[in-house]
Amino acid sequence: MSADGAAAHVLILGGTTEARRLAEALAGDPSYRVTTSLAGRVTSPVLPPGGTRIGGFGGPEGLADWIASHGVTHLVDATHPFAERMSFNAAGAAALTGVPLLALRRPGWTPGPGDGWTFVDRLEEAADRLPGLGSRAFLTTGRMGLHTFAHLTGTWFLVRSVDPPAPPVPPRLDVLLDRGPFTLDGERELLARHRIDVLVTKDSGGSATAPKLTAAREAGLPVLVVRRPAVPEGVPETGSVEAVRDWLGASR
Ligand code: NAP
Repeated sequence: MSADGAAAHVLILGGTTEARRLAEALAGDPSYRVTTSLAGRVTSPVLPPGGTRIGGFGGPEGLADWIASHGVTHLVDATHPFAERMSFNAAGAAALTGVPLLALRRPGWTPGPGDGWTFVDRLEEAADRLPGLGSRAFLTTGRMGLHTFAHLTGTWFLVRSVDPPAPPVPPRLDVLLDRGPFTLDGERELLARHRIDVLVTKDSGGSATAPKLTAAREAGLPVLVVRRPAVPEGVPETGSVEAVRDWLGASR
């Protein structure tokens, strides 16, 4: 509660486990009114506690309008590390409105002993390198970029996504509809059952989808890792929900 007794209105730009954990952590605290915003990409999203709204705002200006008209006092960018546009929109809207912004972003993964990772900057580069590394690929980069691999006729793909992909897609593929967290035993079994010989992933970070990397290391498989896109300069960042709570408490 602020000095005037009004609850702070925290807008969480979500679509991630971290965003949901933050909404859960603030739920029930009368000092905060929380709204989580989702892009609307997933057909049946797991909704967090508190208020939710779904769909784009219309660029940084649209987000700034929403912030002003809904009395938002704090903005938390808890979008996925690969949701590049939205992070820049958040920075733009914060500049337009003067509302404080903090990014909640999980740290990236780092290879350890025994890992055979090749880093690339973009999905297109992953598609270029893939045929040289294997012929049965486990593709975990999400259904949205699948068209980037559609020309690879010599590669068989196992694609895992929350919702079914739309064409164009590679001609030889199986789709596995599933949502993390995933277990190490499950990932080991999946790699063996489908005779996977290469893994493709984004550097999403976090524990929910990390077991595939351990399973790939154990099986001696090469891994193509897409590096994270740039983030807007000057936006403070943390990897911890607790640190966001501290920031909210300190900036009231
Ligand atoms: P993006 O390229 O950064 O955003 C594209 C547009 O989608 C934005 O300009 C915005 O539209 C709208 N948008 C994105 N996130 C939004 C949110 N939380 N609330 C309202 N509108 C949002 O994002 P993306 O990569 O398509 O990802 C979309 C969502 O999926 C994000 O919320 C992200 O956290 C989640 N997600 C993404 C990935 C990934 O690999 N990219 C993985 C897991 C989850 P307007 O400009 O009209 O406001």
